[in-house]
Amino acid sequence: MTHLKPIARPGEPMLACKARTSVMIPLGPDSIPAEFVGFDGLDGLEHIAIRFAGRNSDPARPTLVRLHSECLTGDVFSSRRCDCGEQLHEAIGMLAEEGGVLLYLRQEGRGIGLYAKLDAYRLQDQGADTYEANRLLHLPEDARDYTIGARMLQAIGVTHIRLLTNNPDKIAQLKDAGIDVAEVSRTGVYVTDANRAYLQAKVRHHHLLNPLALIADAAAGMGEEGLGITASE
Ligand SMILES: [Zn+2]
Repeated sequence: MTHLKPIARPGEPMLACKARTSVMIPLGPDSIPAEFVGFDGLDGLEHIAIRFAGRNSDPARPTLVRLHSECLTGDVFSSRRCDCGEQLHEAIGMLAEEGGVLLYLRQEGRGIGLYAKLDAYRLQDQGADTYEANRLLHLPEDARDYTIGARMLQAIGVTHIRLLTNNPDKIAQLKDAGIDVAEVSRTGVYVTDANRAYLQAKVRHHHLLNPLALIADAAAGMGEEGLGITASE
């Protein structure tokens, strides 16, 4: 599957990232029109950009962009251990309305891969938090690299953006890679019984900067206090 030519190996000059095939795919019960774009010159993984024209896009505003890292369990199987699926669908809903770009990055398990994520889940069941589990497996807490996202955006001519994120690391990495992050819009945080500890760990480790935008799962009956977060931002 890793037939894409990587950007560069150590000692090699950086290759240009270029858009490859693009094709329209209607999404969901409303058949939202979405243009899927592949790339040449990435890091060996099949990252994808999905462009939405939007029902009510405002050309005067910077392009709305969401970088979503792949989460098979959350995105496809609606896992309750994280809120990735909810965040993905919230982003698609906003992009269908306002127009913009979703980058779907193949960085499963914060970059450690699916099997290692399952290993980490096992350790979490024994009491470790999501970051401690990675350390116990001798894996980085967060191996995600968003500079690849910056290259994809530059390849499709989107460099002045409104970023949809709660993650300060995403903002910093994109800016460092030459993207003009003119505005930041926060995403919702979706709390359930099963993902509460995971979200608390994200706040403690500064991977979540939006404690006030919590959208409590009505069934779980929890809100900001349920996460033990103070409004210190
Ligand atoms: Zn997830």
